[in-house]
Amino acid sequence: MNRDTMLQKLQSHEGIWDVLVIGGGATGLGIAVDAAARGYKTLLLEQHDFAKGTSSRSTKLVHGGVRYLQQGDISLVLEALKERGLMIKNAPHLVSNQAFVIPNYSWWDGPFYQLGLKIYDFMSGDLGIGSSKRLSIVETIRHIPTIDQKELAGGVVYFDGQFDDARMAISLAKTAAQFDGVLLNYMKVERIIKNEEGIVQGVIALDLETHKKYHIQSKVVINATGVFADAVIKMDDPSAKEMIQPSQGTHIVLDPSFLPDKYAIMVPHTKDGRVLFAVPWLNKVIVGTTDTIVEKPLLEPHFQLDEVEFILETASQYLTKKPTKKDILSIFSGLRPLAKPEGNKQTTKEISRHHKVMISTSGLITVIGGKWTTYRKMAEDTVDQAMLIGQLKVSPCTTHNLPIFGYDESLNLTEDTLAVYGIEKQALLDLEDEIPVYGGLISESLPLKASQVIWAVRHEMARTLEDMLARRVRGLFLDVNESLRIAPQVAQIMASELNESTDWIVNQLTEFKAIAKHYQLIEH
Ligand SMILES: Cc1cc2nc3c(=O)[nH]c(=O)nc-3n(C[C@H](O)[C@H](O)[C@H](O)COP(=O)(O)OP(=O)(O)OC[C@H]3O[C@@H](n4cnc5c(N)ncnc54)[C@H](O)[C@@H]3O)c2cc1C
Repeated sequence: MNRDTMLQKLQSHEGIWDVLVIGGGATGLGIAVDAAARGYKTLLLEQHDFAKGTSSRSTKLVHGGVRYLQQGDISLVLEALKERGLMIKNAPHLVSNQAFVIPNYSWWDGPFYQLGLKIYDFMSGDLGIGSSKRLSIVETIRHIPTIDQKELAGGVVYFDGQFDDARMAISLAKTAAQFDGVLLNYMKVERIIKNEEGIVQGVIALDLETHKKYHIQSKVVINATGVFADAVIKMDDPSAKEMIQPSQGTHIVLDPSFLPDKYAIMVPHTKDGRVLFAVPWLNKVIVGTTDTIVEKPLLEPHFQLDEVEFILETASQYLTKKPTKKDILSIFSGLRPLAKPEGNKQTTKEISRHHKVMISTSGLITVIGGKWTTYRKMAEDTVDQAMLIGQLKVSPCTTHNLPIFGYDESLNLTEDTLAVYGIEKQALLDLEDEIPVYGGLISESLPLKASQVIWAVRHEMARTLEDMLARRVRGLFLDVNESLRIAPQVAQIMASELNESTDWIVNQLTEFKAIAKHYQLIEH
């Protein structure tokens, strides 16, 4: 997958596209896979990099959502558990099984959560990934040696999936490309084109690398821009009411000594009524999340200090080794769409995690809500609608059993950080011999090899230092200072692969340092 080739395909394309997707997050990429696999001529345009938005900032869980079970949203949990099973089946190299312990500090918590989680297991049906179990105090401590033992009454262990969200996004892009889908990053949709009857006919998009504009015609245009959906809806109808109020969720990243074993902790009810997770991920520990209303959607949302303090304080209630600000390796924030309050009502409520496919009078299709775990079903429902709106040749969805690019059952993310490359892993390792000039290991702690950098430039459309260190590998999310340390070496390799100058390296380093500030706690 290479941007120049993709651009050539866009330029040489004759006739009208069947499906044009705006937005290259989980939702848009899933739609591109579904549409391309049905045989539709599919184009996806992303204004920044694939998964730059919310889709690289999740808690990294492929889950039914124990929280939604608590809220009694049975149909959502059933749908998500089914999708969890399909995601593990179709992408075993990208999704792994993760055990969670709910620690109990009062005698009735044990039976209460055990019953709930038995229902959760039962709802997974044939696609279950392990049975939940009540734990004694001793077993709970054995699973989580760093758990706070004061008044500990036991625990319950249950299972969900875990993944690397930005790597899944790249694999979805590659899956769509396998079916001749054309996907472009750094291509911003600026306008929607309509015919004389006011029916959507395509878009005008700007290539942010060359500043060239493209007038592109498509039978169907799909708005899959997540928390940015209102802006695209307004391109279609400037008088449309805004629907989305963004709310920020922040995570902090700690070193594995805080949670040294493979088990994660799930706190079902924090002081503010949320769920808090502490999850081992890529040899670090992710702790979060929060729910903080923010004014407008930003591509690079910045955490608030009180969010970080809340996470540290809550985590400290459950861990023997209390994390402090000094222990934080990185902080990342993502935006979820809440429904904007109507009229003079001041309260927001979450747009249901049930996704919603909406069709405007001009034929623009907008899909909002959902979660990473349900991306496939969201895509199926959206493309079913697109087939009708665009009067496309009837073609059923094929993604239930469609292996995601790189499919390899023998690889497992928890044991091997290169598992995400799937069947391409060996080709990537072979690069090490081919180009010894770059040296092998760039960072031991992340870890990062020179071959991964070259691979991402050649085959994964990494265009900037940030694409590389934030999403193709997860350095920025895992350890900001280590990422800043290796940035000059990585930029050098990228420049040589992209045939770029020393000026490019200087610019990239300046931009990367500016972005890194969003992941760093700098106290004065
Ligand atoms: C804190 C947090 C934790 C979460 N954890 C989980 C989890 O553990 N498991 C789970 O299943 N779900 C989780 N979710 C939900 C999940 O992350 C989201 O549902 C999903 O990532 C949304 O994807 P999206 O494609 O709709 O939006 P996005 O990922 O935001 O993608 C929208 C894209 O549209 C692009 N775009 C916008 N305007 C334009 C334009 N004009 N032209 C071209 N492109 C444009 C943006 O650049 C962006 O890349 C979490 C969400 C949050 C906020």
